[in-house]
Amino acid sequence: MKEELQDPSSKEQTAPLTPNPEIEVLSAQYIASAVREDQYPPEKLIEIAFVGRSNVGKSSLINSLCRRRGLARISSTPGKTQTLNFYQLEVRRAIERRQLFFVDLPGYGYAKRSQKKRTSWGQFIETYLTESQQLKMIFQLIDIRHPAMESDLQVYDWLIKCGLPVQVIATKADKLTKMAIIKQLQLIERQLNISQGQVIKYSSQKGIGRQEVLDVIDHILYYKNM
Ligand code: GDP
Repeated sequence: MKEELQDPSSKEQTAPLTPNPEIEVLSAQYIASAVREDQYPPEKLIEIAFVGRSNVGKSSLINSLCRRRGLARISSTPGKTQTLNFYQLEVRRAIERRQLFFVDLPGYGYAKRSQKKRTSWGQFIETYLTESQQLKMIFQLIDIRHPAMESDLQVYDWLIKCGLPVQVIATKADKLTKMAIIKQLQLIERQLNISQGQVIKYSSQKGIGRQEVLDVIDHILYYKNM
């Protein structure tokens, strides 16, 4: 019987070179701070906004996603910066490059609790969130060590009522044990009425969750595209 000769490398040759290419951040730079529309950057790029209570780890998360230590400021004075900060990123997936903006919103939760039915944000933030045509996703950050606070719930409800897409990210996951992480994620999901397994755990210090968040960005840029 004739034996079929097989080139041992033939399997590799027929497989795609990059079967599941991951998105990479090539560069990230600060572009503008804005409180009014005329101060927004003129380029029309997809925008992803980041919201969370002051001190939740928002700057650290933006820096860790971009792998740029000093990009977003790690604040020592919570709630001080009251501007929308735009960062322009270039990302690559296989050979396809795309540009987008990360929009860092001021931290909430420190304002006086006077306005009952409103978020504690300034009007310009609500205007941006409700009127931007480029805004495709809001990453809402919640500290994994605690239940979602009243201000987190209030902001989440408001975003959902506005019909905005929200991905919740639970920060500082390195501070808890594996068991405690599971418990806290379930608690936050119950509080927000989100189906189980939807909240992403993250640690800027350990890089936990980074790829998962990049996968969400990948989906927005390469699949849902405008
Ligand atoms: P922001 O006010 O939301 O921008 O929060 P920052 O990024 O400035 O972080 C607030 C504090 O939390 C800082 O002391 C950070 O070092 C710390 N922090 C942020 N992310 C993490 C994390 O993933 N793990 C740990 N252990 N600490 C973090």
